Amino acid sequence: RQPGCAWRATDALIRQWLPRRAHDAHKYSAGMALVVAGSREFTGAPVMAATAAARIGAGYVLCACPSDVRPILATKLTEVALLGLPETERGGIDQEDAFDVLDGWLERARALLVGPGLGRHPDTQRFVRALLERTQLPTVIDADGLNALVGFTDLIREHAQGRWILTPHTGEFRRLAGEVDLTRRIEVVQEYARAWGCVLLLKGMPSVVGWPDGTVWINATGNPALATAGTGDVLAGLCVGLVAQGLPPAQAAVCALHVGGAAADRYAAHYGTASMMALDLLAHLPVVLRERFD
Ligand code: AMP
Ligand code: MG
Repeated sequence: RQPGCAWRATDALIRQWLPRRAHDAHKYSAGMALVVAGSREFTGAPVMAATAAARIGAGYVLCACPSDVRPILATKLTEVALLGLPETERGGIDQEDAFDVLDGWLERARALLVGPGLGRHPDTQRFVRALLERTQLPTVIDADGLNALVGFTDLIREHAQGRWILTPHTGEFRRLAGEVDLTRRIEVVQEYARAWGCVLLLKGMPSVVGWPDGTVWINATGNPALATAGTGDVLAGLCVGLVAQGLPPAQAAVCALHVGGAAADRYAAHYGTASMMALDLLAHLPVVLRERFD
């Protein structure tokens, strides 16, 4: 594959890349994903992201959320373990105290997702930046994780090192990168993935993935059924679930986009595009994985 060209993944390629669970796997070897997400305002995003990580095959998913929100998530999530992060008096995540709770898990996890539904509290944003500087884990950064990096793109350049997947939609990307001409989205993604040294997944129609080496992928699956709240959280969860299983971030981003879009295509083939809700993707995913990617 020649760096600098734009590619379209085929089912055959994705089949080749997708991780397979070992015969003698146990839940930790099957991949531990740590999802840092949620706030009082957004209690659905962590559910969708964590569930997606489990559904794509991570053996153990741990969701860290502000301690206030933990009891709510406990009623919504059954298979996902929960960790409450201490909050400041002002109501954001407390940077100092949070790491007392998190550090052990950062050692054990194989992949990290930061951002879905975290909110934009200044204390939480400080915590997000400290977390990203603290860990060497391969990391997916979405939503409010990206918002915490607005004005801090030097931090991306310094720490991404090909280990980070950034998953902005157009608005999030504009806030990060400034005014860019997104009618040339392929070139723009190529340029920024190179400059930042990250895997850059720019969402939209079409979604485009850039690798740090200049390779660009144009998504070949998906449809307007995805234009509904929460599908981005599901995509971020699929990414971290694949990285937790040992897939390199570059391939994981392309795979997550391709299989997530394939699940939406299966939904639309049965029910059309208007009625889909984000978690429906995860109901269709097992069949799609079996029929198209096994
Ligand atoms: P978010 O805005 O973070 O919730 O992410 C929305 C997700 O849905 C992204 O993966 C988009 O690429 C996808 N999406 C939204 N609208 C469409 C569309 N019309 N066609 C294909 N994918 C879409
Ligand atoms: Mg989103």
